[in-house]
Amino acid sequence: MSKYGKDKTNISRRNFLAASTALTVAAGTGVSLNSTSAQAATTIKTKAHIVVVGSGLAGLGIVNRLRKQLDGAKITLVDAKQDHHYQPGFTLIATGIWPVDKVTNSNQELIPAGVEWIQEMAREFKPDTKQVVTDSGKVLDYDYLIVATGVHLDYDQIEGMDVNRIGSNGLASVYPSPELALATWQAMEKFCKTGGKALMTLPSTPIKCAGAPLKMTFMLANRAEQAGTLAASSIDFHSAITSVFSVPVINQEVLDRWKVLDIPVHFQSKLVAVDIDAQRATFEQADGSRIVEDYDFLHIPPPMRAPDAIKNSPLAWQEGPMAGGGWLEVDPGTLQHKRYKNVFGVGDINGTAKGKTAATVKKSVPIVVENLISVMIDKAPTKIFDGYTSCPLLVREGSALLVEFDYNNNLTPSLPFVKPLEDSYFAWLLKYRLFKPSYMAVAKGRL
Ligand SMILES: Cc1cc2nc3c(=O)[nH]c(=O)nc-3n(C[C@H](O)[C@H](O)[C@H](O)COP(=O)(O)OP(=O)(O)OC[C@H]3O[C@@H](n4cnc5c(N)ncnc54)[C@H](O)[C@@H]3O)c2cc1C
Repeated sequence: MSKYGKDKTNISRRNFLAASTALTVAAGTGVSLNSTSAQAATTIKTKAHIVVVGSGLAGLGIVNRLRKQLDGAKITLVDAKQDHHYQPGFTLIATGIWPVDKVTNSNQELIPAGVEWIQEMAREFKPDTKQVVTDSGKVLDYDYLIVATGVHLDYDQIEGMDVNRIGSNGLASVYPSPELALATWQAMEKFCKTGGKALMTLPSTPIKCAGAPLKMTFMLANRAEQAGTLAASSIDFHSAITSVFSVPVINQEVLDRWKVLDIPVHFQSKLVAVDIDAQRATFEQADGSRIVEDYDFLHIPPPMRAPDAIKNSPLAWQEGPMAGGGWLEVDPGTLQHKRYKNVFGVGDINGTAKGKTAATVKKSVPIVVENLISVMIDKAPTKIFDGYTSCPLLVREGSALLVEFDYNNNLTPSLPFVKPLEDSYFAWLLKYRLFKPSYMAVAKGRL
Protein backbone atom coordinates (compact mmCIF):
# COMPACT_ATOMS: atom_id res chain seq x y z
CA MET A 1 0.00 0.00 0.00
CA SER A 2 1.27 3.50 -0.76
CA LYS A 3 1.96 6.03 1.98
CA TYR A 4 -1.15 7.86 0.91
CA GLY A 5 -3.45 5.34 2.60
CA LYS A 6 -6.41 3.81 0.88
CA ASP A 7 -9.89 4.87 -0.08
CA LYS A 8 -12.02 3.89 2.92
CA THR A 9 -15.35 4.96 1.43
CA ASN A 10 -17.66 2.06 0.96
CA ILE A 11 -19.67 3.63 -1.82
CA SER A 12 -22.15 1.28 -3.36
CA ARG A 13 -23.60 1.73 -6.83
CA ARG A 14 -26.94 2.62 -5.22
CA ASN A 15 -25.31 5.28 -3.03
CA PHE A 16 -23.44 6.65 -6.02
CA LEU A 17 -26.56 6.97 -8.15
CA ALA A 18 -28.54 8.50 -5.28
CA ALA A 19 -25.79 11.00 -4.62
CA SER A 20 -25.34 11.91 -8.27
CA THR A 21 -29.06 12.50 -8.66
CA ALA A 22 -29.23 14.57 -5.48
CA LEU A 23 -26.27 16.61 -6.58
CA THR A 24 -27.64 17.20 -10.03
CA VAL A 25 -31.06 18.19 -8.80
CA ALA A 26 -30.38 20.09 -5.62
CA ALA A 27 -26.80 21.00 -5.11
CA GLY A 28 -24.25 23.39 -6.47
CA THR A 29 -20.53 23.73 -6.42
CA GLY A 30 -20.65 22.93 -2.76
CA VAL A 31 -22.64 19.83 -2.13
CA SER A 32 -24.92 21.37 0.48
CA LEU A 33 -28.34 19.87 -0.04
CA ASN A 34 -30.21 22.37 2.14
CA SER A 35 -29.64 25.46 0.07
CA THR A 36 -32.12 28.28 0.08
CA SER A 37 -32.05 27.97 -3.69
CA ALA A 38 -34.39 25.03 -3.28
CA GLN A 39 -36.96 27.36 -1.69
CA ALA A 40 -39.40 29.50 -3.65
CA ALA A 41 -37.73 32.71 -4.81
CA THR A 42 -39.41 36.06 -4.08
CA THR A 43 -40.27 38.22 -7.09
CA ILE A 44 -41.21 41.90 -7.02
CA LYS A 45 -41.95 44.76 -9.42
CA THR A 46 -39.55 47.68 -9.09
CA LYS A 47 -38.00 50.54 -11.03
CA ALA A 48 -34.86 50.54 -8.88
CA HIS A 49 -31.35 50.68 -10.37
CA ILE A 50 -29.05 47.95 -9.08
CA VAL A 51 -25.34 48.09 -9.88
CA VAL A 52 -23.34 44.86 -9.54
CA VAL A 53 -19.55 45.24 -9.62
CA GLY A 54 -17.61 42.13 -10.62
CA SER A 55 -18.63 39.46 -13.12
CA GLY A 56 -17.04 36.40 -11.54
CA LEU A 57 -19.17 33.55 -10.25
CA ALA A 58 -20.74 35.77 -7.58
CA GLY A 59 -21.60 38.70 -9.89
CA LEU A 60 -22.97 36.40 -12.59
CA GLY A 61 -25.06 34.40 -10.13
CA ILE A 62 -26.49 37.64 -8.75
CA VAL A 63 -27.41 39.28 -12.09
CA ASN A 64 -29.00 36.09 -13.41
CA ARG A 65 -31.13 35.77 -10.29
CA LEU A 66 -32.03 39.48 -10.15
CA ARG A 67 -33.11 39.34 -13.76
CA LYS A 68 -35.63 36.63 -12.87
CA GLN A 69 -36.77 38.02 -9.54
CA LEU A 70 -37.00 41.78 -10.21
CA ASP A 71 -39.64 42.79 -12.72
CA GLY A 72 -38.85 46.23 -14.22
CA ALA A 73 -35.52 46.90 -12.46
CA LYS A 74 -32.53 48.41 -14.22
CA ILE A 75 -29.54 46.12 -13.66
CA THR A 76 -26.00 47.19 -14.54
CA LEU A 77 -22.95 44.92 -14.37
CA VAL A 78 -19.48 46.49 -14.25
CA ASP A 79 -16.33 44.49 -15.16
CA ALA A 80 -13.80 44.71 -17.98
CA LYS A 81 -13.06 40.98 -17.91
CA GLN A 82 -14.22 39.24 -21.09
CA ASP A 83 -13.51 35.59 -20.26
CA HIS A 84 -15.01 33.68 -17.39
CA HIS A 85 -12.64 31.22 -15.73
CA TYR A 86 -13.70 28.19 -13.74
CA GLN A 87 -11.02 28.67 -11.09
CA PRO A 88 -11.61 25.39 -9.19
CA GLY A 89 -10.27 23.74 -12.37
CA PHE A 90 -6.90 25.49 -12.00
CA THR A 91 -5.62 22.92 -9.48
CA LEU A 92 -6.63 20.15 -11.89
CA ILE A 93 -4.64 21.82 -14.69
CA ALA A 94 -1.67 22.52 -12.41
CA THR A 95 -1.41 18.88 -11.37
CA GLY A 96 -1.73 17.37 -14.83
CA ILE A 97 -5.32 16.13 -14.51
CA TRP A 98 -7.26 18.48 -16.82
CA PRO A 99 -6.27 20.13 -20.10
CA VAL A 100 -6.05 23.91 -20.03
CA ASP A 101 -9.00 24.51 -22.36
CA LYS A 102 -11.63 23.10 -19.96
CA VAL A 103 -11.96 26.19 -17.77
CA THR A 104 -12.75 29.15 -20.04
CA ASN A 105 -16.18 30.49 -21.03
CA SER A 106 -17.26 33.78 -22.54
CA ASN A 107 -18.81 36.27 -20.13
CA GLN A 108 -21.04 37.54 -22.92
CA GLU A 109 -22.80 34.17 -23.01
CA LEU A 110 -23.34 34.12 -19.26
CA ILE A 111 -24.79 37.62 -18.87
CA PRO A 112 -28.57 37.56 -19.35
CA ALA A 113 -30.41 39.74 -21.85
CA GLY A 114 -31.71 42.90 -20.23
CA VAL A 115 -28.61 43.46 -18.09
CA GLU A 116 -26.44 46.39 -19.15
CA TRP A 117 -22.78 45.34 -19.13
CA ILE A 118 -20.29 48.17 -18.73
CA GLN A 119 -16.99 46.68 -19.89
CA GLU A 120 -14.78 48.72 -17.60
CA MET A 121 -13.41 48.43 -14.08
CA ALA A 122 -14.88 50.44 -11.21
CA ARG A 123 -12.28 52.98 -10.11
CA GLU A 124 -14.06 54.54 -7.16
CA PHE A 125 -16.92 53.71 -4.82
CA LYS A 126 -18.83 56.67 -3.32
CA PRO A 127 -21.47 55.09 -1.07
CA ASP A 128 -22.42 58.40 0.57
CA THR A 129 -23.70 59.71 -2.75
CA LYS A 130 -24.66 56.23 -4.02
CA GLN A 131 -22.28 56.34 -6.97
CA VAL A 132 -19.67 54.16 -8.67
CA VAL A 133 -17.10 55.77 -10.96
CA THR A 134 -15.58 53.68 -13.75
CA ASP A 135 -12.04 53.81 -15.17
CA SER A 136 -13.14 56.11 -17.99
CA GLY A 137 -14.81 58.48 -15.50
CA LYS A 138 -18.39 57.38 -16.13
CA VAL A 139 -20.50 58.00 -13.00
CA LEU A 140 -23.16 55.40 -12.23
CA ASP A 141 -25.89 56.43 -9.79
CA TYR A 142 -27.49 53.48 -8.04
CA ASP A 143 -30.23 52.70 -5.58
CA TYR A 144 -28.64 49.42 -4.51
CA LEU A 145 -25.09 48.11 -4.93
CA ILE A 146 -23.76 44.56 -4.90
CA VAL A 147 -20.00 44.26 -4.52
CA ALA A 148 -18.56 41.07 -6.07
CA THR A 149 -15.01 42.06 -7.01
CA GLY A 150 -13.19 39.02 -5.65
CA VAL A 151 -9.62 39.38 -4.39
CA HIS A 152 -6.44 41.05 -5.61
CA LEU A 153 -3.48 38.65 -5.90
CA ASP A 154 -0.74 40.67 -4.23
CA TYR A 155 2.45 39.07 -5.60
CA ASP A 156 4.12 42.48 -5.15
CA GLN A 157 4.44 41.75 -1.44
CA ILE A 158 7.13 39.18 -2.34
CA GLU A 159 10.36 40.91 -3.32
CA GLY A 160 11.76 39.68 -6.63
CA MET A 161 8.57 37.87 -7.66
CA ASP A 162 7.70 38.04 -11.36
CA VAL A 163 4.40 36.44 -12.36
CA ASN A 164 5.55 36.26 -15.98
CA ARG A 165 8.27 33.79 -14.99
CA ILE A 166 5.91 31.22 -13.45
CA GLY A 167 6.80 27.90 -15.09
CA SER A 168 10.49 28.70 -15.44
CA ASN A 169 13.31 27.85 -13.00
CA GLY A 170 11.00 25.72 -10.84
CA LEU A 171 8.73 28.70 -10.07
CA ALA A 172 5.09 27.66 -9.65
CA SER A 173 1.79 29.30 -8.69
CA VAL A 174 -1.65 27.84 -9.37
CA TYR A 175 -3.62 31.04 -8.76
CA PRO A 176 -3.39 33.68 -11.53
CA SER A 177 -4.75 32.10 -14.73
CA PRO A 178 -5.33 28.85 -16.63
CA GLU A 179 -2.16 29.45 -18.66
CA LEU A 180 -0.04 29.88 -15.54
CA ALA A 181 -1.68 26.84 -13.95
CA LEU A 182 -0.46 24.92 -17.02
CA ALA A 183 3.01 26.48 -16.66
CA THR A 184 2.93 25.35 -13.02
CA TRP A 185 2.17 21.79 -14.13
CA GLN A 186 5.09 21.93 -16.57
CA ALA A 187 7.39 22.98 -13.70
CA MET A 188 5.99 20.20 -11.49
CA GLU A 189 6.40 17.60 -14.21
CA LYS A 190 10.00 18.67 -14.78
CA PHE A 191 10.74 18.47 -11.05
CA CYS A 192 9.25 14.98 -10.85
CA LYS A 193 11.58 13.68 -13.60
CA THR A 194 14.60 13.98 -11.30
CA GLY A 195 13.31 14.84 -7.83
CA GLY A 196 15.02 17.55 -5.80
CA LYS A 197 14.13 20.09 -3.17
CA ALA A 198 10.59 21.49 -3.17
CA LEU A 199 9.36 24.38 -1.05
CA MET A 200 5.61 24.80 -0.65
CA THR A 201 4.29 27.99 0.94
CA LEU A 202 1.26 29.64 2.56
CA PRO A 203 0.88 33.42 3.09
CA SER A 204 -0.46 35.07 6.23
CA THR A 205 -3.50 36.74 4.61
CA PRO A 206 -6.94 35.21 4.00
CA ILE A 207 -6.82 33.43 0.62
CA LYS A 208 -9.38 32.04 -1.78
CA CYS A 209 -9.60 28.26 -1.74
CA ALA A 210 -7.34 27.85 1.27
CA GLY A 211 -7.17 24.16 0.33
CA ALA A 212 -5.33 24.84 -2.95
CA PRO A 213 -1.80 25.14 -1.42
CA LEU A 214 -2.45 21.86 0.42
CA LYS A 215 -3.75 20.12 -2.71
CA MET A 216 -0.65 21.23 -4.59
CA THR A 217 1.53 19.73 -1.84
CA PHE A 218 -0.28 16.39 -1.74
CA MET A 219 -0.29 16.16 -5.53
CA LEU A 220 3.40 17.03 -5.86
CA ALA A 221 4.23 14.13 -3.53
CA ASN A 222 1.87 11.87 -5.45
CA ARG A 223 3.29 12.83 -8.85
CA ALA A 224 6.86 12.31 -7.57
CA GLU A 225 5.87 8.91 -6.21
CA GLN A 226 4.30 7.97 -9.56
CA ALA A 227 7.48 9.09 -11.33
CA GLY A 228 9.62 7.06 -8.92
CA THR A 229 11.47 10.15 -7.65
CA LEU A 230 9.83 10.68 -4.25
CA ALA A 231 12.79 9.09 -2.46
CA ALA A 232 15.08 11.52 -4.29
CA SER A 233 12.95 14.48 -3.22
CA SER A 234 12.37 16.58 -0.15
CA ILE A 235 9.14 18.55 0.22
CA ASP A 236 8.94 21.19 2.94
CA PHE A 237 5.91 23.34 3.73
CA HIS A 238 6.42 26.89 5.01
CA SER A 239 3.35 28.43 6.61
CA ALA A 240 3.43 32.13 7.47
CA ILE A 241 0.94 31.44 10.28
CA THR A 242 0.63 28.87 13.08
CA SER A 243 -1.44 26.35 11.12
CA VAL A 244 -1.92 25.10 7.55
CA PHE A 245 -5.74 25.32 7.60
CA SER A 246 -8.12 27.41 9.70
CA VAL A 247 -10.37 24.56 10.84
CA PRO A 248 -8.49 22.79 13.68
CA VAL A 249 -9.70 19.25 12.98
CA ILE A 250 -8.83 19.51 9.27
CA ASN A 251 -5.52 21.17 10.09
CA GLN A 252 -4.62 18.20 12.31
CA GLU A 253 -5.73 15.67 9.70
CA VAL A 254 -3.49 17.27 7.07
CA LEU A 255 -0.52 17.47 9.46
CA ASP A 256 -0.96 13.79 10.38
CA ARG A 257 -1.00 12.81 6.72
CA TRP A 258 2.08 14.94 5.96
CA LYS A 259 3.92 13.29 8.85
CA VAL A 260 3.40 9.93 7.15
CA LEU A 261 4.50 11.44 3.85
CA ASP A 262 7.58 12.95 5.49
CA ILE A 263 6.63 16.55 4.68
CA PRO A 264 7.95 18.78 7.48
CA VAL A 265 6.01 21.96 8.26
CA HIS A 266 7.75 25.18 9.28
CA PHE A 267 5.31 27.47 11.07
CA GLN A 268 5.54 31.27 11.14
CA SER A 269 7.94 31.07 8.23
CA LYS A 270 6.79 33.68 5.73
CA LEU A 271 8.04 33.88 2.14
CA VAL A 272 9.24 37.46 1.71
CA ALA A 273 11.62 37.32 -1.25
CA VAL A 274 12.57 35.13 -4.18
CA ASP A 275 15.62 35.18 -6.42
CA ILE A 276 14.24 33.46 -9.50
CA ASP A 277 17.56 33.18 -11.37
CA ALA A 278 19.45 31.75 -8.39
CA GLN A 279 16.42 29.64 -7.29
CA ARG A 280 16.61 30.91 -3.74
CA ALA A 281 13.73 31.79 -1.41
CA THR A 282 13.89 33.95 1.72
CA PHE A 283 11.62 33.30 4.67
CA GLU A 284 11.03 35.63 7.61
CA GLN A 285 10.69 33.85 10.95
CA ALA A 286 8.55 34.78 13.98
CA ASP A 287 11.52 36.48 15.69
CA GLY A 288 12.19 38.64 12.61
CA SER A 289 15.26 36.67 11.49
CA ARG A 290 15.53 35.45 7.90
CA ILE A 291 16.53 32.11 6.42
CA VAL A 292 17.46 31.54 2.79
CA GLU A 293 16.70 28.21 1.10
CA ASP A 294 17.74 26.90 -2.31
CA TYR A 295 15.00 25.12 -4.23
CA ASP A 296 14.27 23.14 -7.36
CA PHE A 297 10.52 23.76 -7.10
CA LEU A 298 8.79 26.62 -5.28
CA HIS A 299 5.00 27.00 -5.05
CA ILE A 300 3.70 30.48 -4.24
CA PRO A 301 0.10 31.15 -3.23
CA PRO A 302 0.30 34.97 -3.14
CA PRO A 303 -0.84 37.18 -0.28
CA MET A 304 -4.38 38.37 -1.08
CA ARG A 305 -6.34 41.54 -0.32
CA ALA A 306 -9.27 43.54 -1.63
CA PRO A 307 -8.83 45.28 -5.00
CA ASP A 308 -7.68 48.91 -4.59
CA ALA A 309 -11.06 50.42 -5.52
CA ILE A 310 -12.67 48.71 -2.50
CA LYS A 311 -9.66 48.89 -0.17
CA ASN A 312 -9.43 52.66 -0.64
CA SER A 313 -13.18 53.25 -0.29
CA PRO A 314 -15.46 53.85 2.72
CA LEU A 315 -16.92 50.38 2.07
CA ALA A 316 -13.85 48.64 3.51
CA TRP A 317 -13.52 47.66 7.16
CA GLN A 318 -12.15 50.76 8.91
CA GLU A 319 -10.70 48.89 11.89
CA GLY A 320 -10.12 45.36 13.18
CA PRO A 321 -8.38 42.36 11.62
CA MET A 322 -10.02 42.80 8.18
CA ALA A 323 -9.08 46.48 7.79
CA GLY A 324 -5.48 45.82 6.69
CA GLY A 325 -6.63 43.87 3.63
CA GLY A 326 -9.37 46.42 2.88
CA TRP A 327 -12.05 43.69 2.86
CA LEU A 328 -15.73 44.63 2.52
CA GLU A 329 -17.41 45.34 5.86
CA VAL A 330 -20.47 43.10 5.78
CA ASP A 331 -22.56 41.46 8.44
CA PRO A 332 -21.43 37.80 8.33
CA GLY A 333 -25.01 36.51 8.51
CA THR A 334 -27.06 38.77 6.22
CA LEU A 335 -24.08 39.84 4.04
CA GLN A 336 -25.51 43.37 4.14
CA HIS A 337 -22.96 46.17 4.51
CA LYS A 338 -22.70 47.13 8.16
CA ARG A 339 -22.90 50.88 7.56
CA TYR A 340 -24.50 51.26 4.11
CA LYS A 341 -27.77 49.34 4.20
CA ASN A 342 -28.32 49.55 0.43
CA VAL A 343 -25.06 47.67 -0.19
CA PHE A 344 -24.44 43.91 -0.07
CA GLY A 345 -21.31 41.84 -0.62
CA VAL A 346 -20.99 38.39 -2.11
CA GLY A 347 -18.07 36.07 -2.80
CA ASP A 348 -14.39 36.39 -2.04
CA ILE A 349 -14.44 40.15 -1.35
CA ASN A 350 -16.39 39.76 1.89
CA GLY A 351 -14.47 40.50 5.07
CA THR A 352 -15.83 37.53 6.96
CA ALA A 353 -14.00 34.89 8.97
CA LYS A 354 -14.53 32.14 6.42
CA GLY A 355 -15.90 31.59 2.94
CA LYS A 356 -13.67 32.24 -0.05
CA THR A 357 -14.86 29.35 -2.20
CA ALA A 358 -17.25 28.85 -5.08
CA ALA A 359 -19.31 26.67 -2.74
CA THR A 360 -19.71 29.73 -0.49
CA VAL A 361 -20.93 31.73 -3.48
CA LYS A 362 -23.41 29.04 -4.38
CA LYS A 363 -24.98 29.11 -0.96
CA SER A 364 -24.81 32.87 -0.37
CA VAL A 365 -26.07 34.26 -3.72
CA PRO A 366 -29.74 33.32 -3.06
CA ILE A 367 -29.45 34.69 0.49
CA VAL A 368 -28.12 38.03 -0.76
CA VAL A 369 -30.86 38.32 -3.38
CA GLU A 370 -33.62 37.53 -0.86
CA ASN A 371 -32.16 39.98 1.67
CA LEU A 372 -31.79 42.69 -0.98
CA ILE A 373 -35.45 42.24 -1.91
CA SER A 374 -36.41 42.57 1.77
CA VAL A 375 -34.54 45.87 1.98
CA MET A 376 -36.21 47.04 -1.25
CA ILE A 377 -39.63 46.53 0.32
CA ASP A 378 -38.57 48.21 3.58
CA LYS A 379 -38.19 45.02 5.58
CA ALA A 380 -35.19 43.82 7.57
CA PRO A 381 -33.10 41.08 5.94
CA THR A 382 -33.99 37.70 7.43
CA LYS A 383 -31.93 35.11 5.52
CA ILE A 384 -28.79 34.14 7.38
CA PHE A 385 -25.62 32.72 5.84
CA ASP A 386 -23.81 30.23 8.10
CA GLY A 387 -20.36 30.61 6.51
CA TYR A 388 -20.59 27.40 4.48
CA THR A 389 -17.24 26.75 2.85
CA SER A 390 -16.27 23.66 0.94
CA CYS A 391 -13.44 22.29 -1.07
CA PRO A 392 -12.45 18.80 -2.16
CA LEU A 393 -8.88 18.42 -0.95
CA LEU A 394 -7.05 16.29 -3.48
CA VAL A 395 -4.72 13.90 -1.64
CA ARG A 396 -3.57 11.81 -4.59
CA GLU A 397 -4.76 10.97 -8.09
CA GLY A 398 -8.16 9.31 -7.63
CA SER A 399 -8.83 10.37 -4.03
CA ALA A 400 -9.86 13.49 -2.12
CA LEU A 401 -11.19 14.65 1.24
CA LEU A 402 -14.51 16.48 0.95
CA VAL A 403 -13.98 19.30 3.40
CA GLU A 404 -17.12 21.28 4.39
CA PHE A 405 -17.46 23.61 7.36
CA ASP A 406 -19.11 26.77 8.71
CA TYR A 407 -18.11 29.99 10.49
CA ASN A 408 -17.78 28.14 13.80
CA ASN A 409 -15.42 25.44 12.48
CA ASN A 410 -18.19 22.84 12.63
CA LEU A 411 -17.83 20.19 9.95
CA THR A 412 -21.02 20.27 7.86
CA PRO A 413 -20.98 17.12 5.70
CA SER A 414 -23.75 17.07 3.09
CA LEU A 415 -23.48 13.48 2.00
CA PRO A 416 -23.92 10.92 4.78
CA PHE A 417 -21.72 8.29 3.15
CA VAL A 418 -18.75 10.61 2.54
CA LYS A 419 -16.92 10.99 5.85
CA PRO A 420 -15.21 14.40 6.06
CA LEU A 421 -11.88 13.10 7.36
CA GLU A 422 -11.63 10.06 5.10
CA ASP A 423 -10.44 10.42 1.55
CA SER A 424 -12.63 8.87 -1.11
CA TYR A 425 -12.91 8.26 -4.80
CA PHE A 426 -16.35 9.89 -4.72
CA ALA A 427 -14.95 13.19 -3.40
CA TRP A 428 -12.40 13.00 -6.21
CA LEU A 429 -15.15 12.40 -8.74
CA LEU A 430 -17.03 15.44 -7.46
CA LYS A 431 -14.02 17.63 -8.12
CA TYR A 432 -13.05 15.91 -11.35
CA ARG A 433 -16.42 15.60 -13.02
CA LEU A 434 -19.50 16.85 -11.15
CA PHE A 435 -18.61 20.31 -9.88
CA LYS A 436 -18.20 22.19 -13.12
CA PRO A 437 -21.78 21.61 -14.36
CA SER A 438 -23.11 22.63 -10.94
CA TYR A 439 -20.85 25.69 -10.92
CA MET A 440 -22.13 26.78 -14.33
CA ALA A 441 -25.71 26.37 -13.07
CA VAL A 442 -24.86 28.73 -10.17
CA ALA A 443 -23.41 31.28 -12.64
CA LYS A 444 -26.64 31.10 -14.65
CA GLY A 445 -28.75 31.62 -11.51
CA ARG A 446 -30.30 28.16 -11.72
CA LEU A 447 -28.97 26.79 -8.41
C1 LIG B 1 -6.59 27.63 -7.70
C2 LIG B 1 -8.00 27.76 -7.20
C3 LIG B 1 -8.68 26.62 -6.77
C4 LIG B 1 -9.97 26.74 -6.28
N1 LIG B 1 -10.64 25.59 -5.91
C5 LIG B 1 -11.90 25.68 -5.44
C6 LIG B 1 -12.64 24.50 -5.08
O1 LIG B 1 -12.15 23.38 -5.21
N2 LIG B 1 -13.90 24.64 -4.62
C7 LIG B 1 -14.47 25.87 -4.49
O2 LIG B 1 -15.63 25.94 -4.08
N3 LIG B 1 -13.80 27.01 -4.79
C8 LIG B 1 -12.54 26.95 -5.28
N4 LIG B 1 -11.86 28.09 -5.63
C9 LIG B 1 -12.40 29.41 -5.25
C10 LIG B 1 -13.43 29.96 -6.21
O3 LIG B 1 -13.00 29.88 -7.54
C11 LIG B 1 -13.71 31.41 -5.82
O4 LIG B 1 -14.06 31.45 -4.46
C12 LIG B 1 -14.85 32.01 -6.63
O5 LIG B 1 -14.55 31.95 -8.01
C13 LIG B 1 -15.08 33.46 -6.18
O6 LIG B 1 -15.96 34.12 -7.04
P1 LIG B 1 -16.04 35.72 -6.99
O7 LIG B 1 -17.07 36.07 -7.99
O8 LIG B 1 -16.18 36.19 -5.60
O9 LIG B 1 -14.61 36.22 -7.47
P2 LIG B 1 -13.94 36.10 -8.95
O10 LIG B 1 -14.45 34.89 -9.63
O11 LIG B 1 -12.50 36.21 -8.71
O12 LIG B 1 -14.49 37.36 -9.72
C14 LIG B 1 -14.23 38.68 -9.35
C15 LIG B 1 -14.50 39.57 -10.57
O13 LIG B 1 -14.46 40.92 -10.12
C16 LIG B 1 -13.80 41.69 -11.13
N5 LIG B 1 -13.28 42.91 -10.50
C17 LIG B 1 -12.26 43.07 -9.63
N6 LIG B 1 -12.08 44.36 -9.35
C18 LIG B 1 -13.02 45.04 -10.06
C19 LIG B 1 -13.32 46.42 -10.20
N7 LIG B 1 -12.65 47.36 -9.54
N8 LIG B 1 -14.32 46.76 -11.04
C20 LIG B 1 -15.03 45.83 -11.72
N9 LIG B 1 -14.78 44.51 -11.63
C21 LIG B 1 -13.78 44.13 -10.79
C22 LIG B 1 -12.73 40.77 -11.68
O14 LIG B 1 -12.34 41.18 -12.99
C23 LIG B 1 -13.44 39.43 -11.67
O15 LIG B 1 -14.08 39.17 -12.90
C24 LIG B 1 -10.59 28.00 -6.19
C25 LIG B 1 -9.90 29.15 -6.64
C26 LIG B 1 -8.63 29.03 -7.15
C27 LIG B 1 -7.91 30.25 -7.66
